[in-house]
Amino acid sequence: MRTAILYSEKMREYDLGHVLTGERYERFMRLFREKLGDNPVFEIVEPDYATEADLKLVHTQEYIRRVERYESRDPHDTPLSPPVVRAAKLMAGAGKLGGELVQSAAFSKAIVIGGGVQHAGRDYEKGFGVFSDVGICAENLMQNYGLERILILDADAHAGDGIYAIFRRDPRVLFVSIHQDPRTLYPGPSYSNPIGEAEGQGYSVNVPLLPGTGDLAYKHVLDNVFVPVAEEFQPEVIIMVDGSDTHFMDRITQMGLTLKGIYMIADKVRQTADNVCQGKVIEFAGSGYDPEGTLFPRGWLASICGLAGIEFDLEEPYPLPVGHRADYAASETRRIVQAVRSTLSPYWKCFASS
Ligand SMILES: [Zn+2]
Repeated sequence: MRTAILYSEKMREYDLGHVLTGERYERFMRLFREKLGDNPVFEIVEPDYATEADLKLVHTQEYIRRVERYESRDPHDTPLSPPVVRAAKLMAGAGKLGGELVQSAAFSKAIVIGGGVQHAGRDYEKGFGVFSDVGICAENLMQNYGLERILILDADAHAGDGIYAIFRRDPRVLFVSIHQDPRTLYPGPSYSNPIGEAEGQGYSVNVPLLPGTGDLAYKHVLDNVFVPVAEEFQPEVIIMVDGSDTHFMDRITQMGLTLKGIYMIADKVRQTADNVCQGKVIEFAGSGYDPEGTLFPRGWLASICGLAGIEFDLEEPYPLPVGHRADYAASETRRIVQAVRSTLSPYWKCFASS
């Protein structure tokens, strides 16, 4: 089955004037074309801008109006301007289209280049995100295609507090977030790794990891949290949010993954999707912040190769830090996983054996 790469040159307008630069999308595509451009598995698909009706799948009318007046809550973090708002609508349109392509028979996977809004909610922008491409993807599949079970795996280094806020009461969406402990990283300790609310209680599975956590510890989390809960939930599709900010050289986070670790996560998602949902995955690959732009394109490529099940042979662009270990934080991670399973064992049979 084929994999759609959702990309448009117009994405370059998503430039926030800080670590999130507009040239990152094309920079990634240059590496993609060089390494995978002639691989027949992939097809580049140009997304459209989200319409007002698309945005309203998630966002309130008042919020959409405020964004269209360019009234930023936090102009340093998430500035609003005509190009940024246009590009945010393009990203939202890409998220919607990604879901629709995977629903069609033509593609089993869709990858939204540069996407993965994690912090914006139904009526606010936050943390570089304006319109929730992830939320619009999921809501569109539920409201317009009748899907009843969607699993969102957020493997970005930051906790996805906005995605949580959007779906916290919705038992149709199982939200699994593996992230650097928010007591040590944005969005901060106010995100206390909640388990969902009301009907959605038990449908949010947060795994807060220590800074520096490495490849083997991540594998332990996937094998003991993500895979069993995915098999029990039996989603009709998996949405994956990642990028490369879990890499040891990312400049705004402190996690310890190598490119092989990033590949491993996506590879695990592919195998799980093959088992539970005919291989259907929509990936939002957008994070990763290094000023030289050396690392993140390789991180995104590692993830895409893992998801597509093709070999990845790029070298690490930077030497491993002194003392780096793949099993860093392994024993602490086992304890964290045990605590997560125990907290959620009333809701999931697969966690009851902990
Ligand atoms: Zn992040």
